[in-house]
Amino acid sequence: MLTAFLSHKDCELHDMGGGHPESPLRIAAIRDYLMERQLWDVLNHIDAPKIDKKHLYRVHSRDYVDSIYRRFPSKKMQSLGEDMVANQYTLDAALRSAGAVCKAIDLVLSGDANNAFCSVRPPGHHAEKSRAMGFCVFSNVAVGAAYAIHKHALTRVAILDFDVHHGNGTENILQYDERVLFCSSFQYPFYPFVIPDQTRSNIVHTPMHAGTCSQEFRQWISETWLPKLRAFSPQLILISAGFDAHQADPLADVFLDERDYGWITDEINSVAQASCAGCIVSSLEGGYDLTALSRSVYQHIKSLAGV
Ligand SMILES: [Zn+2]
Repeated sequence: MLTAFLSHKDCELHDMGGGHPESPLRIAAIRDYLMERQLWDVLNHIDAPKIDKKHLYRVHSRDYVDSIYRRFPSKKMQSLGEDMVANQYTLDAALRSAGAVCKAIDLVLSGDANNAFCSVRPPGHHAEKSRAMGFCVFSNVAVGAAYAIHKHALTRVAILDFDVHHGNGTENILQYDERVLFCSSFQYPFYPFVIPDQTRSNIVHTPMHAGTCSQEFRQWISETWLPKLRAFSPQLILISAGFDAHQADPLADVFLDERDYGWITDEINSVAQASCAGCIVSSLEGGYDLTALSRSVYQHIKSLAGV
């Protein structure tokens, strides 16, 4: 299978400073490990383009998007919101992160790639309609879902978020859109410390206690996500791929290992093959232990690429 790998050097220039865990080293660690394991050359490498502002307006408020643009160019470090610090490269990196997801969607829906991984930062799933937060500026995957619905006239887009934190931004933006199924597993109670509304039929929450192990994780995903996903029969699957539920991650207390990311990708891929010819676009969210991150991404992409 041909797997596209989208990234850009701008994503390594955005830096929140002071040894912040959401660091440019994450992108480099992923690249180095994929090269070391000889998976790098199997992938179709594509530079992530900057997204056009009009695609951001579909999911973020016009005031919010314009307020972010007005802050750049700037040579100074600045706060864009709760837990979101920008340097002079942050806007370009954020535009390329959302742009990567939309470009990847074009590639898989046109058949130019079977599936795709976007190795980008800043991540996106905490960014809400009108605010940056949690290391995120634009909601990359939500922007992608809206793009797929409008540009490609899709009516069933699934978003699967296995980051250890709740995808509050994605949910904030898309929860009332019945064309979207959103599944999120997360340590609870945990950042961003809100109690999500569990009443909507297109939203699936899989809360996990501190200390959740591989066996529990696999059981809960099998029981709460997969039947719902099969019944939804998505035309496209987007993955908010956070790898911070790994036992080595410094920001959480869930005890997965890298093989669990291979397992969940296999499971998602099997539904994708049956419902949408394998169309999956995955975008990097969290994952802050560089060794665990790179090994987990390797398992994830190895499954996507069918290697
Ligand atoms: Zn996270």
